[in-house]
Amino acid sequence: MTGLPHGLLDREACAALDAADRLAPLRGRFLLDDGLIYLDGNSLGALPAATPPRLATVVTEEWGRGLIRSWTAAGWIDAPRRLGDRVAPLVGARPGEVLVADSTSVNLFKLLGAAVQARPGRRVILSHQGNFPADLYVAQGLCELLEGRCELRTVPPAALEAAVDEQVAVLMVTHVDYATGAVADMAGLCAAARRHGALGLWDLSHSTAALPVDLGGCGADLAVGCGYKYLNGGPGAPAFLYVAERLQGTLRSPLRGWMGHAEPFAFEPGHRQAPGVEGFLCGTPPILGMAALEAALDLWAEVDLEAVRAKSMLLGDLLVRLVDERCSGLGLELASPREAARRGSQVALRHADGYRVVRALVDRGVIGDFRAPDIVRLGLAPLYLRHVDVWDAVEALREVLATGAHERPEYAVRAAVT
Ligand SMILES: *Cc1c(COP(=O)(O)O)cnc(C)c1O
Repeated sequence: MTGLPHGLLDREACAALDAADRLAPLRGRFLLDDGLIYLDGNSLGALPAATPPRLATVVTEEWGRGLIRSWTAAGWIDAPRRLGDRVAPLVGARPGEVLVADSTSVNLFKLLGAAVQARPGRRVILSHQGNFPADLYVAQGLCELLEGRCELRTVPPAALEAAVDEQVAVLMVTHVDYATGAVADMAGLCAAARRHGALGLWDLSHSTAALPVDLGGCGADLAVGCGYKYLNGGPGAPAFLYVAERLQGTLRSPLRGWMGHAEPFAFEPGHRQAPGVEGFLCGTPPILGMAALEAALDLWAEVDLEAVRAKSMLLGDLLVRLVDERCSGLGLELASPREAARRGSQVALRHADGYRVVRALVDRGVIGDFRAPDIVRLGLAPLYLRHVDVWDAVEALREVLATGAHERPEYAVRAAVT
């Protein structure tokens, strides 16, 4: 089902969709240049207007005046759990199951290590080809550290379910593919893991705050996710981890720090893991980053995620249809699922010269990104994106491709960040 009007789609029709959009006022809660079309909120979310004053208060008042007293007086010490409880409803978790800490990669290492240790006698970490490389690297590093005690096995995404067997300690899946935006079948894969006694670990980096996620309802065991993408927590924002309550008494974090100790200020020589999800804390939380993420979570607390998903699917359908109608014969191929329900909040287009196309778009104020080898990735963050932005972005894309504007030699030189 699509909510797009039948018949001719023009810029006026897109403006009419904006006029009917109940989420439209939320754009005013972000600091965004009006001339910019930002299609990269899946990589670095935009800046909420509430964030700079919040950061200023934390720096000048809590740090500047409160100094070390702020660890208790300003609630700094509780921030990982407090923010975790605010992320929890976005991913279908209960209070006490989510912790905001560290980076996604570090959290993945902690949970993967704990999962392998909890399944002695099973040697396989099962994942999918095309998974985000960092996730595969973390698994490779863990296997190397464990000197052959475990191995990483990857299969095509469609073969995952059939590949779960009694050798698998943990099934590690990224819920929404970072490149194509394809959504994995969380319920089905969780059931397969359960049937075979494996643990299921989900990377929610491209799903959190982009679509409703139901970790609890699917029976997911473990998860990690990112704070700086759709959550809008700021560059390098702290990430989160989820440990289902039923597993909290048994899993042990391989990264033992004092913050994960049952009594950090007892200064005992041996580690006693804190009960509950706090046992997965390692070191001191980065309070400035936490403050920026908390300001963003205030905004998410007001937002209905079902409405966000509905708008995201409409924006995606609009983009796909406009590319079909207006850019045919220009060398683009859809890399995302065509069906909105199977697609996250992005549309990926293959083009042989994808990198140069992205660079030419950036010079026209349309910011997307490039994922090797050939993907032009256009993220659709429904809190601040308008339907006319999608129209204008496709017009810019059409103009670039039709005139060959992307063929300028300077676009061929790759920047450090693509
Ligand atoms: C963005 C992303 C990460 C990011 O990990 P960092 O530790 O923040 O660099 C991890 N996994 C996936 C699937 C991602 O999309």
